[in-house]
Amino acid sequence: MPNRRRFLRTLAALAAAAAGIVPTATRPRFVGDPFRLGVASGYPLPGGVVLWTRLVVDPRVPGGGIDPVAVPVRWEVARDEAMRDIVSSGTAAATPAWAHSVHVLASGLEPSRWYWYRFTAGDARSPIGRTRTAPAAGVLPASLRFAVASCQHYEHGFFSAWRHVVADAPDLVAFLGDYIYEGSVTWAAPRKHRASSPHTLEEYRLRHALYKSDPDLAAAHAACPWIVTWDDHEVSNDYAADRPDNGMPRDAFLARRAAAYRAYYEHMPLPPEMRPDGPAMRIHTVLDWGALARFAILDGRQYRSVQVCLHEGQTGGSSTADVDDCAALRDPRRTMLGLEQERWLESALATSPACWNLLAQQTPLAQLDQKPGPGRRVWTDGWDGYPVARRRLLDFLAGQRIANPVTLAGDVHMFIVSDLKPDFDDPASPVVASEFCGTSITSGAWPQETVERVLPENPHIRFANSAFRGYIRVQLGPERLRADLRAMQTVRTPDAPCSTLASFVVEDGRPGPHRTA
Ligand code: FE
Ligand code: CA
Repeated sequence: MPNRRRFLRTLAALAAAAAGIVPTATRPRFVGDPFRLGVASGYPLPGGVVLWTRLVVDPRVPGGGIDPVAVPVRWEVARDEAMRDIVSSGTAAATPAWAHSVHVLASGLEPSRWYWYRFTAGDARSPIGRTRTAPAAGVLPASLRFAVASCQHYEHGFFSAWRHVVADAPDLVAFLGDYIYEGSVTWAAPRKHRASSPHTLEEYRLRHALYKSDPDLAAAHAACPWIVTWDDHEVSNDYAADRPDNGMPRDAFLARRAAAYRAYYEHMPLPPEMRPDGPAMRIHTVLDWGALARFAILDGRQYRSVQVCLHEGQTGGSSTADVDDCAALRDPRRTMLGLEQERWLESALATSPACWNLLAQQTPLAQLDQKPGPGRRVWTDGWDGYPVARRRLLDFLAGQRIANPVTLAGDVHMFIVSDLKPDFDDPASPVVASEFCGTSITSGAWPQETVERVLPENPHIRFANSAFRGYIRVQLGPERLRADLRAMQTVRTPDAPCSTLASFVVEDGRPGPHRTA
């Protein structure tokens, strides 16, 4: 009577939990494969890397079908794919309080090397993941290959772009936000969330578990380490710090944000020290790739000033503002990153030892005037809604002569390749940085005709295309950065081909992307 036994075990565990004790399963047994969500790694250092998994036998049920007891999970890192030459190992407790997730920093590894890893719980073994370490500090590697991706609305299509990312065999994936979407669509989408918008911790866990059970996404996590940041949809559309776009009271929204951040942490290969505390979670950090690249991974949501220049009764972002008529937009106290993160970023850039300084963040810095002819209309949820803070950052990059600054962005669901200038309206303003905005993994976008219509208003934009979903493949060396814009033929079927729509290079010491193919 396995069901009855399981019921009694659960009952005993619940009684113990009510008494404030979380018992540990000494010989954990599962009703199915507890590694249904796969494995992941992230934040490579020269001597270590973060390993992640979460025990779930059924992603559709609260608790994932795991008894509410702590489960010891063994982790192993090997120098070979067959897991014979194990060089680092240990045991971590997967606890019900953290949804049976595991975040460990595997240390004692050699720099600049590929490794394989796996987890064991009871008799169950996870799939084997592949990961790698960063080069040692001061070492200049010949190249770094990474993918830039964002915006994967489950309902809008299949995550098959990840299959092509895996085929590229990158060293690293940088994911720039909208990993999940809280909202659902009303049209006949290729897939459905089959649940209403999450508000509680358990609901966010179920949403993450649904996304993580996608086999292409799981394969991309198992293929190489990731670095991640979030945008709005990990919590709710267009939220700004403690202000949602739907009029929910502040306390209720902060409780929702706490649930969303916690579920996000539980499902990502984030360093254990990023574990959230209530509604606060510090996700901004730096990652160094020897002397070649410093990634500054930014948070443009948690600390930002609320959007302004909205119409009566409107909340969140807006593209209806005629910015020349709205003085509030130019208030110098308004910030995208928060003043503390701004200062932290300036220090991270000023002390950078790297040839290339890559800002891994949510949304394009390049101005996008959407109004043909005189006057400007912009999207006020993006950097266009924070023009003084943007100018502060671009002036800093130029004034401090930061080496090869490149911003990476997502959010707008189109490829946009731009020159970044302190004053986008002044043709004489110098190009001080380069920008690559990836399209979306699946999320839908404007029609290409709309993009074409506004391009003449934005001469600093060298390329813009909203017609394709996909990602950006970057090959970085000391002399140049090369970016291939990778476009899926469609995301409405699960096995579509992917091809390169255009390629750009940025040469060392010469800001601004140039098209090569
Ligand atoms: Fe998005
Ligand atoms: Ca205009």
